[in-house]
Amino acid sequence: MFRPAPCILPALLTLAIAPTCADTQVDSSTAAIAAHVDASQEAAFALLERAVNINSGTFNPAGVRRVGDLFRAEFDALGFATEWVDGASFGRAGHLVARRGERGPHVLLIGHLDTVFEPDSPFQKFERDGDIALGPGTSDMKGGIVIMLSALRALMAMGSLDELTATVVLTGDEEDVGEPQAPARAALLEAADGADIAIGLENADDNPATAVIARRSSTSWTLKVNAPGAHSSQIFRDNVGAGAIFESARILEALRSKLAGEDYLTFNPGIILGGAQTTFDPGSMSGTAAGKGNIIAPTAVVIGDLRALTIPQREQAKMRMTEIVAAHLPRASTEITFQDSYPPLAPTDGNRKLLALYDQVSRDLGFGPVTAVDPRDAGAADISFVGGVVPMALDGLGLLGGGNRTEGEFADLRTFRIQTQRLALLLYRLSRR
Ligand SMILES: [Zn+2]
Repeated sequence: MFRPAPCILPALLTLAIAPTCADTQVDSSTAAIAAHVDASQEAAFALLERAVNINSGTFNPAGVRRVGDLFRAEFDALGFATEWVDGASFGRAGHLVARRGERGPHVLLIGHLDTVFEPDSPFQKFERDGDIALGPGTSDMKGGIVIMLSALRALMAMGSLDELTATVVLTGDEEDVGEPQAPARAALLEAADGADIAIGLENADDNPATAVIARRSSTSWTLKVNAPGAHSSQIFRDNVGAGAIFESARILEALRSKLAGEDYLTFNPGIILGGAQTTFDPGSMSGTAAGKGNIIAPTAVVIGDLRALTIPQREQAKMRMTEIVAAHLPRASTEITFQDSYPPLAPTDGNRKLLALYDQVSRDLGFGPVTAVDPRDAGAADISFVGGVVPMALDGLGLLGGGNRTEGEFADLRTFRIQTQRLALLLYRLSRR
Protein backbone atom coordinates (compact mmCIF):
# COMPACT_ATOMS: atom_id res chain seq x y z
CA MET A 1 0.00 0.00 0.00
CA PHE A 2 1.23 3.50 -0.81
CA ARG A 3 2.08 5.52 2.26
CA PRO A 4 3.94 8.72 1.46
CA ALA A 5 6.55 9.29 4.13
CA PRO A 6 7.43 12.74 5.44
CA CYS A 7 9.71 14.47 2.99
CA ILE A 8 13.08 14.62 4.67
CA LEU A 9 15.89 16.41 2.90
CA PRO A 10 18.70 13.88 2.96
CA ALA A 11 22.38 14.65 3.23
CA LEU A 12 22.48 14.11 -0.50
CA LEU A 13 22.01 17.74 -1.33
CA THR A 14 25.76 17.98 -1.78
CA LEU A 15 25.36 15.65 -4.71
CA ALA A 16 22.89 17.93 -6.42
CA ILE A 17 20.81 14.88 -7.17
CA ALA A 18 18.59 15.04 -4.15
CA PRO A 19 14.85 15.19 -4.59
CA THR A 20 13.84 18.78 -4.97
CA CYS A 21 11.45 17.84 -2.22
CA ALA A 22 8.83 20.30 -3.22
CA ASP A 23 6.66 18.48 -0.71
CA THR A 24 3.41 17.76 -2.43
CA GLN A 25 5.14 17.46 -5.80
CA VAL A 26 7.32 14.63 -4.52
CA ASP A 27 4.36 12.89 -2.95
CA SER A 28 2.22 13.17 -6.06
CA SER A 29 4.99 11.89 -8.32
CA THR A 30 5.58 9.07 -5.88
CA ALA A 31 1.93 8.09 -6.05
CA ALA A 32 1.88 8.38 -9.85
CA ILE A 33 4.91 6.12 -10.18
CA ALA A 34 3.36 3.55 -7.89
CA ALA A 35 0.16 3.58 -9.95
CA HIS A 36 2.00 3.21 -13.29
CA VAL A 37 4.12 0.35 -11.98
CA ASP A 38 1.22 -1.53 -10.45
CA ALA A 39 -0.81 -1.21 -13.65
CA SER A 40 2.03 -2.75 -15.68
CA GLN A 41 2.57 -5.76 -13.47
CA GLU A 42 0.76 -8.55 -15.34
CA ALA A 43 2.24 -7.50 -18.70
CA ALA A 44 5.67 -7.57 -17.07
CA PHE A 45 5.10 -11.11 -15.78
CA ALA A 46 4.01 -12.23 -19.26
CA LEU A 47 7.25 -10.81 -20.70
CA LEU A 48 9.24 -12.57 -17.98
CA GLU A 49 7.55 -15.86 -18.85
CA ARG A 50 8.44 -15.49 -22.53
CA ALA A 51 12.06 -14.68 -21.69
CA VAL A 52 12.46 -17.54 -19.21
CA ASN A 53 11.02 -20.04 -21.70
CA ILE A 54 13.86 -19.29 -24.13
CA ASN A 55 16.98 -21.18 -23.06
CA SER A 56 19.89 -18.76 -22.79
CA GLY A 57 22.66 -20.76 -21.18
CA THR A 58 25.92 -18.85 -21.61
CA PHE A 59 27.15 -21.47 -24.09
CA ASN A 60 23.95 -21.39 -26.16
CA PRO A 61 24.68 -18.30 -28.29
CA ALA A 62 21.54 -18.67 -30.42
CA GLY A 63 19.36 -18.71 -27.31
CA VAL A 64 21.15 -15.73 -25.74
CA ARG A 65 20.64 -13.87 -29.00
CA ARG A 66 16.92 -14.73 -29.04
CA VAL A 67 16.45 -13.40 -25.52
CA GLY A 68 18.41 -10.34 -26.63
CA ASP A 69 16.05 -9.88 -29.58
CA LEU A 70 13.00 -10.20 -27.32
CA PHE A 71 14.23 -7.43 -25.03
CA ARG A 72 15.61 -5.39 -27.89
CA ALA A 73 12.08 -4.92 -29.26
CA GLU A 74 10.99 -3.61 -25.86
CA PHE A 75 13.81 -1.04 -25.75
CA ASP A 76 13.10 -0.07 -29.37
CA ALA A 77 9.49 0.62 -28.38
CA LEU A 78 10.74 2.99 -25.67
CA GLY A 79 12.70 4.97 -28.24
CA PHE A 80 16.14 3.53 -27.47
CA ALA A 81 18.73 3.15 -30.21
CA THR A 82 19.67 -0.52 -29.91
CA GLU A 83 22.68 -2.44 -31.12
CA TRP A 84 23.81 -6.06 -30.91
CA VAL A 85 27.53 -6.30 -30.16
CA ASP A 86 28.72 -9.57 -31.65
CA GLY A 87 30.66 -11.85 -29.32
CA ALA A 88 32.55 -14.02 -31.83
CA SER A 89 35.88 -12.43 -30.89
CA PHE A 90 35.49 -13.62 -27.27
CA GLY A 91 33.65 -16.87 -27.87
CA ARG A 92 30.20 -15.86 -26.64
CA ALA A 93 26.89 -14.67 -28.10
CA GLY A 94 27.52 -10.96 -27.54
CA HIS A 95 25.69 -8.13 -25.78
CA LEU A 96 22.66 -5.90 -26.29
CA VAL A 97 23.42 -2.18 -25.92
CA ALA A 98 20.61 0.40 -25.90
CA ARG A 99 20.99 4.18 -25.69
CA ARG A 100 18.50 6.97 -25.21
CA GLY A 101 18.60 10.66 -24.42
CA GLU A 102 21.11 13.47 -24.33
CA ARG A 103 19.99 15.44 -21.32
CA GLY A 104 20.28 15.08 -17.58
CA PRO A 105 22.43 12.66 -15.63
CA HIS A 106 23.83 9.71 -17.54
CA VAL A 107 22.63 6.46 -16.00
CA LEU A 108 24.09 3.11 -16.98
CA LEU A 109 21.72 0.18 -16.38
CA ILE A 110 23.39 -3.24 -16.29
CA GLY A 111 21.86 -6.67 -16.72
CA HIS A 112 22.64 -10.02 -18.30
CA LEU A 113 20.79 -12.21 -20.77
CA ASP A 114 22.47 -15.52 -19.97
CA THR A 115 21.79 -18.10 -17.27
CA VAL A 116 23.79 -21.03 -15.92
CA PHE A 117 21.25 -23.50 -17.33
CA GLU A 118 22.35 -24.91 -20.69
CA PRO A 119 20.00 -26.68 -23.14
CA ASP A 120 20.83 -30.08 -21.60
CA SER A 121 19.58 -29.01 -18.17
CA PRO A 122 16.21 -30.43 -17.10
CA PHE A 123 15.37 -26.93 -15.78
CA GLN A 124 13.93 -25.03 -18.74
CA LYS A 125 10.44 -23.66 -18.16
CA PHE A 126 8.59 -20.89 -16.35
CA GLU A 127 6.04 -22.19 -13.86
CA ARG A 128 3.94 -19.91 -11.73
CA ASP A 129 2.33 -20.85 -8.48
CA GLY A 130 0.64 -17.78 -7.04
CA ASP A 131 3.36 -15.27 -6.17
CA ILE A 132 6.18 -17.67 -6.92
CA ALA A 133 7.63 -17.96 -10.43
CA LEU A 134 9.95 -20.92 -10.83
CA GLY A 135 12.34 -21.10 -13.79
CA PRO A 136 15.87 -20.48 -15.07
CA GLY A 137 16.71 -16.79 -14.91
CA THR A 138 13.53 -15.77 -13.08
CA SER A 139 15.52 -13.92 -10.42
CA ASP A 140 19.04 -14.15 -11.95
CA MET A 141 18.21 -12.11 -13.85
CA LYS A 142 15.63 -11.88 -16.60
CA GLY A 143 13.36 -10.59 -13.83
CA GLY A 144 15.78 -7.70 -13.31
CA ILE A 145 15.60 -6.77 -17.00
CA VAL A 146 11.80 -6.78 -16.83
CA ILE A 147 11.99 -4.44 -13.83
CA MET A 148 14.35 -2.16 -15.74
CA LEU A 149 11.87 -1.97 -18.64
CA SER A 150 8.85 -1.41 -16.39
CA ALA A 151 10.60 1.39 -14.49
CA LEU A 152 11.61 3.08 -17.76
CA ARG A 153 8.03 2.76 -19.01
CA ALA A 154 6.71 4.40 -15.84
CA LEU A 155 9.15 7.27 -16.41
CA MET A 156 7.97 7.63 -19.97
CA ALA A 157 4.35 7.75 -18.80
CA MET A 158 5.35 10.51 -16.37
CA GLY A 159 7.04 12.46 -19.18
CA SER A 160 10.40 12.21 -17.41
CA LEU A 161 12.31 9.76 -19.56
CA ASP A 162 13.65 12.56 -21.76
CA GLU A 163 15.29 14.15 -18.71
CA LEU A 164 17.75 11.26 -18.42
CA THR A 165 20.54 9.96 -20.59
CA ALA A 166 20.18 6.21 -20.28
CA THR A 167 22.52 3.50 -21.53
CA VAL A 168 21.56 -0.12 -21.06
CA VAL A 169 24.06 -2.96 -21.38
CA LEU A 170 22.71 -6.51 -21.23
CA THR A 171 25.69 -8.84 -21.41
CA GLY A 172 25.42 -12.32 -22.86
CA ASP A 173 28.17 -13.88 -20.78
CA GLU A 174 27.88 -12.69 -17.19
CA GLU A 175 27.81 -16.22 -15.81
CA ASP A 176 31.04 -17.13 -17.64
CA VAL A 177 32.82 -14.11 -19.08
CA GLY A 178 34.22 -14.63 -22.57
CA GLU A 179 37.94 -14.85 -23.25
CA PRO A 180 39.91 -12.76 -23.79
CA GLN A 181 38.26 -10.63 -21.15
CA ALA A 182 39.27 -7.26 -22.63
CA PRO A 183 37.07 -7.51 -25.77
CA ALA A 184 34.38 -9.33 -23.75
CA ARG A 185 33.93 -6.30 -21.48
CA ALA A 186 34.84 -3.54 -23.97
CA ALA A 187 31.18 -2.68 -24.70
CA LEU A 188 30.41 -2.39 -20.98
CA LEU A 189 33.42 -0.20 -20.30
CA GLU A 190 32.68 1.95 -23.33
CA ALA A 191 29.12 2.45 -22.09
CA ALA A 192 30.44 3.37 -18.63
CA ASP A 193 32.70 6.05 -20.04
CA GLY A 194 31.10 9.35 -19.06
CA ALA A 195 28.25 7.75 -17.07
CA ASP A 196 27.42 9.40 -13.74
CA ILE A 197 25.62 6.48 -12.15
CA ALA A 198 25.67 2.71 -12.65
CA ILE A 199 22.78 0.54 -11.52
CA GLY A 200 22.86 -3.26 -11.57
CA LEU A 201 19.69 -5.33 -11.72
CA GLU A 202 21.07 -8.49 -10.12
CA ASN A 203 19.07 -10.13 -7.35
CA ALA A 204 22.04 -9.83 -4.92
CA ASP A 205 21.16 -11.41 -1.60
CA ASP A 206 17.43 -11.60 -2.39
CA ASN A 207 16.51 -9.31 0.48
CA PRO A 208 14.47 -6.16 -0.30
CA ALA A 209 15.95 -4.47 2.78
CA THR A 210 19.45 -4.52 1.25
CA ALA A 211 21.33 -3.40 -1.86
CA VAL A 212 24.94 -3.82 -2.94
CA ILE A 213 27.51 -1.01 -2.80
CA ALA A 214 30.56 -3.28 -2.70
CA ARG A 215 31.63 -6.55 -4.26
CA ARG A 216 34.97 -8.23 -3.80
CA SER A 217 37.36 -8.94 -6.63
CA SER A 218 38.11 -12.39 -7.95
CA THR A 219 41.64 -13.53 -8.83
CA SER A 220 42.94 -17.04 -9.41
CA TRP A 221 46.49 -18.05 -8.49
CA THR A 222 48.77 -20.95 -9.28
CA LEU A 223 51.67 -21.97 -7.04
CA LYS A 224 54.31 -24.25 -8.57
CA VAL A 225 56.98 -25.91 -6.44
CA ASN A 226 59.88 -27.96 -7.74
CA ALA A 227 62.54 -29.79 -5.74
CA PRO A 228 65.11 -32.52 -6.31
CA GLY A 229 63.55 -35.97 -6.54
CA ALA A 230 65.37 -38.74 -4.69
CA HIS A 231 64.77 -41.92 -2.74
CA SER A 232 62.73 -41.26 0.37
CA SER A 233 65.58 -42.49 2.56
CA GLN A 234 67.56 -39.37 1.61
CA ILE A 235 64.92 -36.77 2.60
CA PHE A 236 66.08 -33.78 4.69
CA ARG A 237 69.75 -34.22 3.77
CA ASP A 238 71.39 -30.93 2.83
CA ASN A 239 71.91 -31.93 -0.79
CA VAL A 240 68.32 -33.22 -1.20
CA GLY A 241 65.96 -31.07 0.84
CA ALA A 242 62.36 -31.82 1.86
CA GLY A 243 60.71 -32.28 -1.54
CA ALA A 244 58.01 -30.32 -3.28
CA ILE A 245 55.06 -31.57 -1.23
CA PHE A 246 56.53 -30.62 2.15
CA GLU A 247 57.62 -27.28 0.71
CA SER A 248 54.21 -26.45 -0.73
CA ALA A 249 52.59 -27.40 2.59
CA ARG A 250 55.04 -25.15 4.43
CA ILE A 251 54.31 -22.25 2.07
CA LEU A 252 50.54 -22.69 2.39
CA GLU A 253 50.79 -22.65 6.16
CA ALA A 254 52.97 -19.52 5.99
CA LEU A 255 50.35 -17.83 3.80
CA ARG A 256 47.60 -18.78 6.25
CA SER A 257 49.46 -17.69 9.37
CA LYS A 258 50.66 -14.37 7.92
CA LEU A 259 47.68 -13.24 5.86
CA ALA A 260 44.53 -14.84 7.26
CA GLY A 261 42.23 -12.64 9.29
CA GLU A 262 42.61 -9.39 7.33
CA ASP A 263 39.19 -7.79 6.88
CA TYR A 264 37.53 -8.76 3.59
CA LEU A 265 40.63 -10.58 2.32
CA THR A 266 40.27 -14.29 1.60
CA PHE A 267 42.49 -16.74 -0.26
CA ASN A 268 41.75 -20.39 -0.67
CA PRO A 269 43.83 -23.26 -2.05
CA GLY A 270 41.19 -25.21 -3.92
CA ILE A 271 43.25 -27.92 -5.66
CA ILE A 272 46.64 -29.45 -4.82
CA LEU A 273 48.60 -32.00 -6.79
CA GLY A 274 52.06 -33.37 -6.00
CA GLY A 275 54.27 -36.33 -6.80
CA ALA A 276 56.81 -37.62 -9.26
CA GLN A 277 54.67 -36.26 -12.12
CA THR A 278 51.71 -33.91 -12.10
CA THR A 279 49.47 -32.56 -14.84
CA PHE A 280 46.85 -29.85 -14.57
CA ASP A 281 44.32 -28.66 -17.14
CA PRO A 282 42.94 -25.17 -16.34
CA GLY A 283 40.05 -25.67 -18.78
CA SER A 284 38.52 -28.54 -16.84
CA MET A 285 40.11 -27.54 -13.53
CA SER A 286 41.35 -31.09 -13.06
CA GLY A 287 44.67 -32.89 -13.10
CA THR A 288 46.65 -36.00 -12.22
CA ALA A 289 49.41 -36.89 -9.82
CA ALA A 290 51.57 -40.01 -9.90
CA GLY A 291 54.50 -41.22 -7.80
CA LYS A 292 55.47 -43.60 -5.07
CA GLY A 293 55.59 -43.44 -1.31
CA ASN A 294 59.34 -43.96 -1.41
CA ILE A 295 60.07 -41.17 -3.91
CA ILE A 296 60.60 -37.60 -2.69
CA ALA A 297 58.13 -35.61 -4.78
CA PRO A 298 59.93 -33.33 -7.24
CA THR A 299 56.82 -31.37 -8.23
CA ALA A 300 53.69 -29.88 -6.70
CA VAL A 301 51.06 -27.46 -7.93
CA VAL A 302 48.36 -25.60 -6.00
CA ILE A 303 45.46 -23.69 -7.58
CA GLY A 304 43.50 -21.21 -5.53
CA ASP A 305 41.52 -17.99 -5.48
CA LEU A 306 41.95 -14.60 -3.86
CA ARG A 307 39.24 -12.06 -3.02
CA ALA A 308 39.70 -8.46 -1.90
CA LEU A 309 37.53 -5.40 -1.38
CA THR A 310 39.73 -2.85 -3.10
CA ILE A 311 42.45 -2.87 -5.74
CA PRO A 312 45.13 -1.72 -3.24
CA GLN A 313 44.13 -4.55 -0.88
CA ARG A 314 44.30 -7.05 -3.74
CA GLU A 315 47.67 -5.82 -4.97
CA GLN A 316 49.13 -5.74 -1.44
CA ALA A 317 47.98 -9.33 -0.89
CA LYS A 318 49.56 -10.44 -4.15
CA MET A 319 52.83 -8.76 -3.16
CA ARG A 320 52.91 -10.42 0.27
CA MET A 321 52.00 -13.82 -1.16
CA THR A 322 54.77 -13.45 -3.75
CA GLU A 323 57.29 -12.59 -1.01
CA ILE A 324 56.28 -15.57 1.10
CA VAL A 325 56.51 -17.92 -1.88
CA ALA A 326 59.90 -16.50 -2.89
CA ALA A 327 61.36 -17.24 0.56
CA HIS A 328 61.58 -20.96 -0.21
CA LEU A 329 63.79 -23.56 1.41
CA PRO A 330 67.20 -24.38 -0.07
CA ARG A 331 67.00 -26.89 -2.94
CA ALA A 332 63.40 -25.95 -3.80
CA SER A 333 62.28 -23.54 -6.50
CA THR A 334 58.94 -21.79 -6.41
CA GLU A 335 56.73 -19.60 -8.53
CA ILE A 336 53.31 -18.03 -7.98
CA THR A 337 51.27 -16.42 -10.74
CA PHE A 338 47.98 -14.52 -10.53
CA GLN A 339 45.17 -14.07 -13.01
CA ASP A 340 42.60 -11.36 -12.26
CA SER A 341 39.05 -11.95 -13.45
CA TYR A 342 36.63 -9.55 -11.73
CA PRO A 343 37.90 -6.29 -10.25
CA PRO A 344 36.36 -5.23 -6.93
CA LEU A 345 33.42 -2.87 -6.63
CA ALA A 346 34.93 -0.82 -3.80
CA PRO A 347 32.54 0.77 -1.27
CA THR A 348 33.15 4.37 -2.32
CA ASP A 349 31.51 7.48 -0.86
CA GLY A 350 29.69 7.85 -4.18
CA ASN A 351 28.18 4.39 -3.85
CA ARG A 352 27.14 5.13 -0.26
CA LYS A 353 25.46 8.36 -1.38
CA LEU A 354 23.54 6.57 -4.10
CA LEU A 355 22.42 3.97 -1.55
CA ALA A 356 21.29 6.82 0.74
CA LEU A 357 19.19 8.22 -2.09
CA TYR A 358 17.72 4.78 -2.78
CA ASP A 359 17.04 4.28 0.92
CA GLN A 360 15.12 7.57 0.98
CA VAL A 361 13.16 6.54 -2.09
CA SER A 362 12.22 3.28 -0.39
CA ARG A 363 11.12 5.04 2.79
CA ASP A 364 9.09 7.56 0.80
CA LEU A 365 7.31 4.71 -0.96
CA GLY A 366 6.55 3.05 2.36
CA PHE A 367 8.89 0.11 1.74
CA GLY A 368 11.22 0.77 4.67
CA PRO A 369 14.96 1.34 4.95
CA VAL A 370 17.61 -0.23 2.70
CA THR A 371 21.08 -1.02 4.00
CA ALA A 372 24.25 -2.30 2.32
CA VAL A 373 24.89 -6.02 1.82
CA ASP A 374 28.01 -7.24 3.62
CA PRO A 375 30.59 -7.53 0.80
CA ARG A 376 31.52 -10.99 2.14
CA ASP A 377 28.09 -12.11 0.97
CA ALA A 378 28.18 -10.41 -2.44
CA GLY A 379 29.80 -12.34 -5.28
CA ALA A 380 31.44 -10.74 -8.29
CA ALA A 381 29.16 -9.32 -11.01
CA ASP A 382 29.33 -7.17 -14.13
CA ILE A 383 28.91 -3.91 -12.20
CA SER A 384 32.36 -4.62 -10.71
CA PHE A 385 33.93 -3.81 -14.08
CA VAL A 386 32.62 -0.24 -13.99
CA GLY A 387 33.08 0.41 -10.26
CA GLY A 388 36.35 2.24 -10.81
CA VAL A 389 34.94 4.20 -13.75
CA VAL A 390 31.48 5.43 -12.71
CA PRO A 391 31.35 7.76 -9.67
CA MET A 392 28.29 6.11 -8.11
CA ALA A 393 27.20 2.48 -8.37
CA LEU A 394 24.48 0.36 -6.79
CA ASP A 395 23.50 -3.23 -7.52
CA GLY A 396 20.93 -5.75 -6.42
CA LEU A 397 17.87 -3.80 -7.55
CA GLY A 398 16.38 -6.66 -9.58
CA LEU A 399 13.56 -9.12 -9.02
CA LEU A 400 14.23 -11.08 -5.86
CA GLY A 401 13.75 -14.76 -5.10
CA GLY A 402 16.03 -17.64 -4.21
CA GLY A 403 17.55 -20.97 -5.21
CA ASN A 404 20.28 -19.29 -7.22
CA ARG A 405 22.17 -21.57 -9.59
CA THR A 406 19.97 -24.52 -8.68
CA GLU A 407 17.05 -26.12 -10.44
CA GLY A 408 14.90 -24.54 -7.76
CA GLU A 409 15.61 -20.94 -8.86
CA PHE A 410 12.53 -18.81 -8.31
CA ALA A 411 11.36 -15.22 -8.18
CA ASP A 412 9.03 -13.90 -5.52
CA LEU A 413 6.70 -11.86 -7.70
CA ARG A 414 5.62 -9.74 -4.72
CA THR A 415 9.02 -8.06 -4.97
CA PHE A 416 8.22 -6.77 -8.49
CA ARG A 417 6.21 -3.77 -7.35
CA ILE A 418 8.66 -2.92 -4.56
CA GLN A 419 11.74 -3.11 -6.75
CA THR A 420 10.17 -1.46 -9.80
CA GLN A 421 8.61 1.40 -7.88
CA ARG A 422 11.88 2.05 -6.10
CA LEU A 423 13.93 1.99 -9.32
CA ALA A 424 11.41 4.22 -11.11
CA LEU A 425 11.35 6.77 -8.30
CA LEU A 426 15.13 6.70 -8.03
CA LEU A 427 15.46 7.40 -11.76
CA TYR A 428 12.75 10.05 -11.55
CA ARG A 429 14.59 11.88 -8.78
CA LEU A 430 17.88 11.57 -10.64
CA SER A 431 16.18 13.05 -13.71
CA ARG A 432 15.22 16.13 -11.71
CA ARG A 433 18.71 16.99 -10.49
ZN1 LIG B 1 23.32 -12.67 -12.27
